[in-house]
Amino acid sequence: MLVRPTYKTGWDIPGGYVEQDESPLAACRREVNEELGITPPIGRLLVVDWAPHPNEGDKVLYIFDGDELSPADVAAIRLDHSELAEYAFYSVEEATSVLVPRLARRLAAAARAHRERLTFFLEHGQEPDFGYQIPQLPAPWTVLPLEKRGMFEAELGAEVSEGHPLFGMPVIAIAKCQACDEVAFSVEHHPVRFVSVHLTWRRAAERIPWPMTKELSLPLAHSLAEHAH
Ligand SMILES: [Zn+2]
Repeated sequence: MLVRPTYKTGWDIPGGYVEQDESPLAACRREVNEELGITPPIGRLLVVDWAPHPNEGDKVLYIFDGDELSPADVAAIRLDHSELAEYAFYSVEEATSVLVPRLARRLAAAARAHRERLTFFLEHGQEPDFGYQIPQLPAPWTVLPLEKRGMFEAELGAEVSEGHPLFGMPVIAIAKCQACDEVAFSVEHHPVRFVSVHLTWRRAAERIPWPMTKELSLPLAHSLAEHAH
């Protein structure tokens, strides 16, 4: 969703300035409510963007994930006409063509962060060159494409029972052995960040210690190379 402010030209995304003693997330929720008259769930941080400005000073912008608006929320939108002339829904491609370049870059990064469940740090709307790339995984491991992760995450969720180290843990399936049912997962909010699990594919809770789980150490490529056939 883009909005067209009354106080400047062009389109923007809903949002505004943080007030004193207010967190960026609280400010996001407040601004969405003030500008649109709704309180949709606001989720993960997608992007932090450092945006220098010669007249207004340097800004740090946060984009949070509003996901898809429910039909009820769309029906309940009441624009604050002192600030906004109109709103409209655009695809990401369309949106990036009507926005000023720095905002277009920021929005494209936010859309990717939403899809890939990541958070990006940007400078001027662009990811700095950190001097590294995602390493190639040793064969027979391959990185799981986004659209295939869900089925492995669901299967793991079905197989782990209470007492298993991964029980109730949010995980992201990241890589798969092409020669067996071993899948590597990243474990969110957990000191052991990566594990590899031999899925049984019984689609039901297993008896501990199954599905067999092994902690992976960094660098991942070395750790995964120990899995051999
Ligand atoms: Zn294997």
